[in-house]
Amino acid sequence: MRRCERAGLPVALSRRTIVRRAIARRTVAPRNLMSTLHPHDDSHSYRFCPRCGGPLERRLVKAGEPERPVCARCGFIFYIDPKIAVGTIIQSASGRLVLVRRAIEPGYGKWVFPGGYVDRGETLTSAAVREAREECGLEVRLDGLVNIYSYPGRAPVIVVYAATAIGGMLCIDDECLETAEFDAAAIPWDGLAFRSTHDGLRDYISGLRHIIPS
Ligand SMILES: [Zn+2]
Repeated sequence: MRRCERAGLPVALSRRTIVRRAIARRTVAPRNLMSTLHPHDDSHSYRFCPRCGGPLERRLVKAGEPERPVCARCGFIFYIDPKIAVGTIIQSASGRLVLVRRAIEPGYGKWVFPGGYVDRGETLTSAAVREAREECGLEVRLDGLVNIYSYPGRAPVIVVYAATAIGGMLCIDDECLETAEFDAAAIPWDGLAFRSTHDGLRDYISGLRHIIPS
């Protein structure tokens, strides 16, 4: 899956922009649909109980709460949880910020800092380091927590870290079209993938940092 040839130490990100083109091998969904619908906002589409396969129906389980999908056969309540994601704003050796251009929907062709969903049982910080390595090839040191972002009606909760590149080689994976370094003053604000991308970069550049809870 990976398309960088090697990842040696130490890294030397001296070029102003390191860009490698990739062919998006992954089939992408029609943009007019997926650009407005996050893939994890489709809770209404679940039809069958994950426990017994019985039909789900929407029921008011507790007064004051939203209706939940409940299995008509075994009574299993299907709580649709938020999706926890991490993002890593990486300062390269040249002092610039590393962004990747997405080769998948949602946000195809738009810029984002490396990130992705946290696996169950994985710590947030491990996920942040892993995603940085997978998406842009860099080994990073996490320097601080920038902020946590959530939005009404949206499934993802995005935890954004500030990081410094300490090794690896800037490259791309199959979810990216290209990787580039940007001066803070040259961030492509009109070409960012998500609201959390915008908000995270804005807060990072303003200097917002929290201590990472141990
Ligand atoms: Zn069931």
